[in-house]
Amino acid sequence: MTLTNWAGNYTYRAPVVHHPSTVPELQELVAGSPRIRALGTRHCFNDLADDPAALVVLDGLEAAPEIDADARTVTVTAGTRYGTLAQHLHPAGWAVHNLASLPHISVAGAVATATHGSGDRSQNLAAAVAALEIVGPDGAIRTVRRGDADFAGSVVALGALGVAARVTLDIEPTFDVAQEVHLDLPWTAALEHLDELTSSADSVSLFTDWTGDTIAQVWRKTRVTPDYRLRTELFGATPADGPRHPLPGIDPVNCTAQLGEPGPWHDRLPHFRMDFTPSNGDELQSEFLVPRAHAVAALEAIRSLADRIAPLLQVTEVRTIAGDDLWLSTAEGGDRVGLHFTWLPRQPEVEALLPTIEAALAPFDARPHWGKLFADEGRDLARLYPRWDDFRSLVARTDPEGVFRNDFLDRHVL
Ligand SMILES: Cc1cc2nc3c(=O)[nH]c(=O)nc-3n(C[C@H](O)[C@H](O)[C@H](O)COP(=O)(O)OP(=O)(O)OC[C@H]3O[C@@H](n4cnc5c(N)ncnc54)[C@H](O)[C@@H]3O)c2cc1C
Repeated sequence: MTLTNWAGNYTYRAPVVHHPSTVPELQELVAGSPRIRALGTRHCFNDLADDPAALVVLDGLEAAPEIDADARTVTVTAGTRYGTLAQHLHPAGWAVHNLASLPHISVAGAVATATHGSGDRSQNLAAAVAALEIVGPDGAIRTVRRGDADFAGSVVALGALGVAARVTLDIEPTFDVAQEVHLDLPWTAALEHLDELTSSADSVSLFTDWTGDTIAQVWRKTRVTPDYRLRTELFGATPADGPRHPLPGIDPVNCTAQLGEPGPWHDRLPHFRMDFTPSNGDELQSEFLVPRAHAVAALEAIRSLADRIAPLLQVTEVRTIAGDDLWLSTAEGGDRVGLHFTWLPRQPEVEALLPTIEAALAPFDARPHWGKLFADEGRDLARLYPRWDDFRSLVARTDPEGVFRNDFLDRHVL
């Protein structure tokens, strides 16, 4: 059987894909496998999840999320999608702090790559992890909890430490969000007022193709309080007169509700609706996370490449992410701005351009998103992560035989 990722640009090499139906079955499987890796919902754009021998998918481990109201946590089987989790949390009066642009991504897969939404005060999704139950190479379960010595290295772990069976996440009381879209923000105003702009709502995304004098769309998501009012003026941008899709000319029917209409967090924080399930997509993605202090300079550097980027680009999304302390998190050590590229499905040309983009962002210590396309031609990642050697030691200690190693890890990390 041929198994591809969501975008269809990568075919997994693993000849076998297992679907255990219980955790003991998963433990036995891992213990008896010389090489194996976990596969989530296949939303990565590269070979990060692959394995030459075998993959294990946890979609057979369905179990209802367990909410602990006193501890303010929920525990889920690791393959649970955020959208499914939301369907349990919201009716029970709970929420997670943020979501990615799509609700169809698995919790363990998102956590493993430091997947994020947007928001000056919003950390990436991995920062909500309170504990992980990881099946190690001998099949035994190792539980790591926030505060444990290995915890900060075990959350954004790229699948290198084992197969997470269950994940415990922080939760908070459910909340409503209103989403507004503004059009044609002058670039000059965006660069001059970037901090005011990104702090003007709980989650702000700028959508641009880098050309021209204006940023096409600004999406702003605000937690609704009694003081909430629609924003008319936004640094020269004007409110959209109807719903918009981030890509020009595309019907917004699959986008979450806009125009300031309040709705539950899980129905506004992702850009795309949960009941719209794209099985694949005609796109590729790359993203680079830059320290907040360099945000304007990084935007200017990429804008100077607009003529080379635009012909291959569907749209760029600029987001902000609050810092955390997880060793391999792209927001480790401080707040970041994310420069994301949704490319046309022209991989050879995109890959030929990536070194130019990475060279332009190199002075700003840009970290590539682990799950998206990047070049890393100079094998520079080590210098970008202060805890790099600690992570490698953790891998050597927990997986001495390399059961969970793969080509991606050999190429970029180990
Ligand atoms: C349409 C689309 C929209 C996206 N939007 C965003 C976004 O808004 N923000 C963002 O930051 N990223 C975004 N991404 C990227 C995506 O969130 C990441 O690639 C994420 O890792 C995908 O999760 P997955 O479950 O599909 O993982 P997979 O691609 O299946 O696997 C990713 C990694 O997780 C590991 N893994 C999976 N399950 C387990 C487990 N049980 N135990 C241990 N390791 C495991 C795998 O081994 C692999 O290393 C988007 C991708 C797509 C296709």
